[in-house]
Amino acid sequence: MQAKINEVANIVAIVGRPNVGKSTLFNRLTKTRTAIVDSVAGVTRDRIYGKFDWVGRDFSVIDTGGYVRGSDDVFEGEIRKQVEIAIEEANIILFLVDTEQGVTGMDQEVAMLLRKSKKPVILVANKVDNSMRQTQSAEFYSLGLGEIFNISAMNGSGTGELLDEVVKQVPEDVEVEDLDIPKIAIVGRPNAGKSSFINALTGEERNIVTEIAGTTRDSIHTRYNLFGKDFLLVDTAGLRKKTKVHENLEFYSVMRSVRTIENSDVCVLLLDATRGLESQDLSIFSLAEKNKKGIVILVNKWDLVEKETNTAKEYKNKILQRLEPFTDIPIIFVSVLNKQRIFQAVEEAMNVYSRREQRIATSKLNDTMLPIIEGNPPPASKGKYVKIKFVTQLPTRTPSFAFFANLPQYVKEPYKRFIENKLREQFDFTGVPIQVYFRQK
Ligand code: GDP
Ligand code: GDP
Repeated sequence: MQAKINEVANIVAIVGRPNVGKSTLFNRLTKTRTAIVDSVAGVTRDRIYGKFDWVGRDFSVIDTGGYVRGSDDVFEGEIRKQVEIAIEEANIILFLVDTEQGVTGMDQEVAMLLRKSKKPVILVANKVDNSMRQTQSAEFYSLGLGEIFNISAMNGSGTGELLDEVVKQVPEDVEVEDLDIPKIAIVGRPNAGKSSFINALTGEERNIVTEIAGTTRDSIHTRYNLFGKDFLLVDTAGLRKKTKVHENLEFYSVMRSVRTIENSDVCVLLLDATRGLESQDLSIFSLAEKNKKGIVILVNKWDLVEKETNTAKEYKNKILQRLEPFTDIPIIFVSVLNKQRIFQAVEEAMNVYSRREQRIATSKLNDTMLPIIEGNPPPASKGKYVKIKFVTQLPTRTPSFAFFANLPQYVKEPYKRFIENKLREQFDFTGVPIQVYFRQK
């Protein structure tokens, strides 16, 4: 299978002050209900990043409000930072304003930032729930951002036209080059040791084969040949620029990771062993998972941890608990500083790549899975018995499997999970997100 050096980045950021309806729009686009509303508790995985498709194009959408809630004045500074990062990282910005409230001082401030940027911006007047409000939104012309798209994030009106405009303004990706080698991204929150890791790997200049810059975009693939392995490292914009501003903001490191992750095959997620797995790490993990990338977790700075007999084992179990339900993940304890297990880390990333590329013969799949299903069929639902007759791996870029059945609609989530686990038991997919579908035969 060919890996493509193809800058995939269709990143849509939703910005605006609190309560204009950013989460509501995010949920509508991604069809989730998981975000929202009371977020005193910790960040959940799905709060700010999601995928959607429109007229055959795939987009990522980021809700910049995911991390900041409250009144305008308290968070003014934070919102400004988030808008700045969105301008840097997104391909297009949806600037949401609230028709019920009209223009506020903060809207004007955000508008000023956006006018100065060169990114495409669409001004979106939300809460236009009825035709009376349509005329009301005209006051937003004063923000100097041109045409206004009236929507109701709540009832969905106007969102189709809005997405048509997004598609129009974000050009389709151009294919740059085909290369049959793994693209590895090194991700993690600030200070986890990403730069040190890359330096440890690539410190010697002669290892670099070529630098392939994306034609139009920012991310860079650098080709390496190390330990006899040929691979591309997907450089993170944040690493190259080494901008240290706002770097403790969770939003910042997640935003920084999106493009890198989308342009990789396998993500090596570095954790700081002295801090454990925190919500920020989980957000990045979730980005990789949602994009169906291979994942390897490195617990870095292991040299700083006091060790007893079971320290590593217990540490690993604690991490896995937080990753549920996707726990079939390789975890390696490393010290970049001491160059401990660095080779093993790269090797594991390459293994994950191969597992993600593997194609299982249909006969083998059926011979293995059908007896398992026979011994443990889907439970009857409303008196209906589901019979699964045949299974095949689909010709998709990432592993997915179709199980053909008489009544696929009666197969419930727990049984899907059971099947996924059996596939993982029988075949080797450690570190690889897989998908299971049930279809009408
Ligand atoms: P955020 O802080 O910008 O993410 O805003 P939320 O999405 O949390 O929405 C703030 C409030 O506005 C909530 O009470 C939503 O139900 C409400 N809201 C969002 N979209 C609409 C809409 O289209 N019409 C109306 N009437 N209310 C909306
Ligand atoms: P980045 O922000 O993720 O690129 O992190 P850096 O590579 O800049 O590392 C952050 C800090 O952690 C630096 O001071 C490194 O020297 C330190 N560091 C990185 N790896 C290790 C390690 O394995 N052990 C220890 N003790 N420190 C490390």
